[in-house]
Amino acid sequence: MMGQQTAQQNALFYDFCLEERIPQNHLLRKINQFLDFDQIRLYLKPFYSHTGRPSVDPELMIRMLLVGYCYGIRSERRLCEEVNFNLAYRWFCGLGLEDGIPNHSTFSKNRLGRFRNADLLRMVFNTVVKKCIEQGLVGGEGFAIDASFVQANASVKRSIHAPVDWRPALKQTRAVKEYLDALDEVADLNRPQKRVSTTDPMSQWTGAKSRADYFYSTNYLIDADHTVIMDVEASPSTNSLEVSTTKTMIERVEKNHGIVPNSLMGDAAYGTANNLNYVVNEKKIAPYIPVWEGVKPKNNIFAKFDFIWDEYKGEYRCPAQKVLSKNHRNYREPKTHITKANTIIYRSKSAECKQCSLKQYCCPKTPSRKITRSVYESARDVARQNCLSKEYETKYLAERKKVEMSFAHMKSHHNFNNLRLRGLKSANDEFLLVATTQNLKKLAMHNSIN
Ligand code: SF4
Repeated sequence: MMGQQTAQQNALFYDFCLEERIPQNHLLRKINQFLDFDQIRLYLKPFYSHTGRPSVDPELMIRMLLVGYCYGIRSERRLCEEVNFNLAYRWFCGLGLEDGIPNHSTFSKNRLGRFRNADLLRMVFNTVVKKCIEQGLVGGEGFAIDASFVQANASVKRSIHAPVDWRPALKQTRAVKEYLDALDEVADLNRPQKRVSTTDPMSQWTGAKSRADYFYSTNYLIDADHTVIMDVEASPSTNSLEVSTTKTMIERVEKNHGIVPNSLMGDAAYGTANNLNYVVNEKKIAPYIPVWEGVKPKNNIFAKFDFIWDEYKGEYRCPAQKVLSKNHRNYREPKTHITKANTIIYRSKSAECKQCSLKQYCCPKTPSRKITRSVYESARDVARQNCLSKEYETKYLAERKKVEMSFAHMKSHHNFNNLRLRGLKSANDEFLLVATTQNLKKLAMHNSIN
């Protein structure tokens, strides 16, 4: 017989307990046990006045944001609706059935004001990393680094090609002001760009993805053991700025958690001389990073790697076994020959090249050949040696790919393909929140397995 639902929906009294309604194995219940808001409240105390009307509870706002970034609810307006109707979300946020939900505008006010001044989202992220360390999820042996593009909230229609005059007050939105302030600090932002977004000028126009657009990069430094995200940093999507986050993140992890890894995995973009000098010589970390050897020149012209470096004599040998030296003249006072780019130029003798049968493959348009060598080339040699080792193929290459897996989870499981907020600082806030929820999920999973 076909049944028919007869429940009354207008009952005034219910025998109902929210705590009992949430299953023991619910993700939010598992996550909840790793959140320590006493510490967060203590940290935030100096940022609130001791008199006046009580503010919206910061714990409630952080919990709501964690729900949003955990379940891919990116709009704050929608998040407020979802928390209002979903029992599990209400339970996680510490709300009763009849408690009101804060207005969505409260989030932007706090994010841009008190939370940013207090660097609260970084603090929340760090407390979760500390929990991961306490639970034995961080080995601290090998870290892997990589970056991933996330589409910026910048309309392609609102972009300009010519240099922009940002002075008119109307154009100075928060994102523009942030960009103008950063121009003085970050030299790389001053270089001419193909297109600049007038809504979010710090975002980078790039055609590296299938569809050209404006992007920011999220940079992850992960521990290879359980892929815990040890640090995260936003940067405009340019190679040099992505690579520069290596130092920022390694220093910050050492400062916050006292961990310096024994080895670092990354792709060839991280194999620049300056970066490897920092990793090898300053931090004494073993690099498992392929070295970028440059593009093989066209028309079968000899590349740099066709010239053999003699460490003992400090000179190159060309394919015709002639010497390329940094010093062809006798100077009265010895010179370092180091250029502004921290390189030394080695040249062949034009008299020898003139008679060489290989000249057409070496320097067909110039009297002699020159090779530039970084002063940090020894650090690159360490990386070259490491990448030839057996462990590189069997262990480190696979560990490097774990960062890519973290990015894939970020995009598919957390619906994080594009940014909602504008400006680099807001991108950083969003990246911190999604990385925090990724780590919380790892803690929850680890706890349910053990
Ligand atoms: S052209 Fe000069 S540098 Fe090149 S292979 Fe011949 S001798 Fe060597």
